[in-house]
Amino acid sequence: MKIAVIGAGAMGSLFGAHLAAGGNQVALVDVWEEHVRTINENGLIVEEEGRLRTYRLPALTDPGSLGPQDLVIVFVKSYHTATAIRSAKNLFSGGTQVVTLQNGLGNAEIIAGEAAGTTVIAGTTSHGATVLGPGRIRHAGKGETVIGKVSGGAGRLGEVAAEFNRCGLETRIADDIAGLLWGKLLVNVGINPLTALCKVTNGSLVEMESTLRLMEMLVGEGEAVARAVGVALPYSDALGKVKSVARATGSNRSSMWQDIERGRPTEVDFINGAVVREGEKAGVPTPCNRVVTLLVKALEEKCRGRQPGAFTA
Ligand code: NAD
Repeated sequence: MKIAVIGAGAMGSLFGAHLAAGGNQVALVDVWEEHVRTINENGLIVEEEGRLRTYRLPALTDPGSLGPQDLVIVFVKSYHTATAIRSAKNLFSGGTQVVTLQNGLGNAEIIAGEAAGTTVIAGTTSHGATVLGPGRIRHAGKGETVIGKVSGGAGRLGEVAAEFNRCGLETRIADDIAGLLWGKLLVNVGINPLTALCKVTNGSLVEMESTLRLMEMLVGEGEAVARAVGVALPYSDALGKVKSVARATGSNRSSMWQDIERGRPTEVDFINGAVVREGEKAGVPTPCNRVVTLLVKALEEKCRGRQPGAFTA
């Protein structure tokens, strides 16, 4: 398959590397010049399972020289999705399938709007990855990827899942994509902003009475909105699910907390902010998610540019 990955940070590099190793014609597209130059000069180095492996695949800052692709995988942070798709329009044709495994709600809709005529596939992934430096990432943990079609023509979902599986990225197809996305959303809604605001690991959230109460309020609002918009969550006890994920990932420093620490924007608008927007449309009040979104935005403003050079875009 001809595959382009837009946003070759931690996750984009990981998926691009595995798909290239499986024999696909993969190109990485990223605006981070030093990263792109290093990959082209030295290869992409992936630290996984205690070993270093070098993957050879081309990287570009400008996708202008690439034609329409069979598959485009979008792995920029959610607040860059619209800009990134707009600057890569030549990658899309009627036969292109576009996959987003980004966190939050709304990316698939942005892609469908900007890359009209393509088939848009969304999903979730439990892989974990971190950028260590230009041209170098760590594959922190393996996990399942689940995908489903959101919009567009017939699509070849089975082909995408089969190719991911063949390349060692365990993938299955979801029957109910909205339920899947909302299921992951509520986990992020209940964990991410609280870790960023309180500067605590995931596990601490369920050990402190006040954060547990806040988690209950955030998740409860999200659950009410999901019900109002007709989404069936993939679990019956939303708070129980979020608590169990927080415990299972107890020592994790969430990406939202890490973004704040590095003076980078967070994806809060696509997580708690999405609950607020969907709540407004459905007439469900979401005061706790609204306040928490604004508090995270305030922290973003306060910490912006804290470590000059930490921004990659
Ligand atoms: P990242 O910051 O490591 O990578 C994003 C990359 O996008 C950066 O390299 C940046 O330079 C690039 N970029 C920014 N604007 C661009 C543009 N206009 N065109 C091309 N490239 C551009 O982020 P990440 O951790 O890989 O996360 C990507 C998405 O995946 C997020 O939505 C995140 O929530 C989700 N996710 C991450 C993980 C994880 O473990 N890292 C796990 C599951 C889901």
